Amino acid sequence: MTPSIRLGRLFGIEVGFNWSLIFIVALIAWTVAADILPGTAPGYAPLLYWLLGAAGALLFYASLLAHELSHAVVARRNGVKVAGITLWLFGGVSRLEGEPVSARSEALIAGVGPLTSFVVAVLSLIIAVLAGGSSLVAALFSWLSFVNVMLGLFNLVPAFPLDGGRLLSSLLWWRSGSRQRGVHNAVRVGRVFAYLMIAAGVVGVFIGQPVSGIWIAFVGWFLLSAGAAEEAGSTIRIALRSVPVSAAMTSPVVTLPDWVTVQTFLESVAPNHSFTTYPVHEASGALTGVVRLSDLVRMPAGERAERHLKDVARPIAEVPVTNPREDLSALIGRIGGGLEQRVLVFDKGQLVGIVSPADVARVLTLRGARAT
Ligand SMILES: [Zn+2]
Repeated sequence: MTPSIRLGRLFGIEVGFNWSLIFIVALIAWTVAADILPGTAPGYAPLLYWLLGAAGALLFYASLLAHELSHAVVARRNGVKVAGITLWLFGGVSRLEGEPVSARSEALIAGVGPLTSFVVAVLSLIIAVLAGGSSLVAALFSWLSFVNVMLGLFNLVPAFPLDGGRLLSSLLWWRSGSRQRGVHNAVRVGRVFAYLMIAAGVVGVFIGQPVSGIWIAFVGWFLLSAGAAEEAGSTIRIALRSVPVSAAMTSPVVTLPDWVTVQTFLESVAPNHSFTTYPVHEASGALTGVVRLSDLVRMPAGERAERHLKDVARPIAEVPVTNPREDLSALIGRIGGGLEQRVLVFDKGQLVGIVSPADVARVLTLRGARAT
């Protein structure tokens, strides 16, 4: 989940949100203004309910942000780089680069999130009590306290990608001594919980709770697919850990002038090389983009004589870059599961190689062969 809108930096961590959030903020503001507040503190002007409803929605997302920031800060302190935090439909996601180094640090990174939510719940409750009795502010903060308790409890459900799943995985890692086995068994437990949620949702629909029933079943289904993705991702990341980019990259690289036509390229350049990707450069020698053979052969034959490589190249600014010493697992964590992307490898300003999905697949095959 990449952010659509950047909010800025907090504690040196990039925070952004996804468009889906605006819809949910409106929904929460509406629920608080039209249902929660009039129910607990009746008799105020409608405008006041709406103002506090909007404040409630913002406070709710501030609580989510506190939860995610706590993950990010503890992760950074435990040597795991944090790419940023994105708030979206299901709450927040901290995008971590790389894996925790020990079961203890995984437990700390996962556990601090629910703990933060419970602390926010207690603080909100104190504010509500201080505000006194049936006032609007008391009603708002009692609600905020309640949702933070729910947030903490929901995140403790032992299923990936929830914190409970990670806590369980760290516990199993600590007991078995193997991170891989910890993730594998935690995913199996998580699957049971996901099926239970789907079943509970279906039962809810039949006993006359269709909206919450469908919602619970939907979250269960989401946890089911997230668990499978987590296991696949962790298998790949573990296999690629401590494999430097230099072991996978294709080198040397053939770069082409970007003013060559597609036709010339296909007729007199491509047949002489075994590459599938070519960086292109302008007259000064500066790289301007990357062309892929598969995109060029797809172009209708009638257009090939007029179009130049620079017209079809992916702009250089969009191409991810690395250096020969970076870990492949860190690289994949950084470019976000982008195994389908080509990555350019630079060493001291010189282009020294390209990493393609085929290169990574080759390393994975070799590592798999060595492990069995
Ligand atoms: Zn969390």
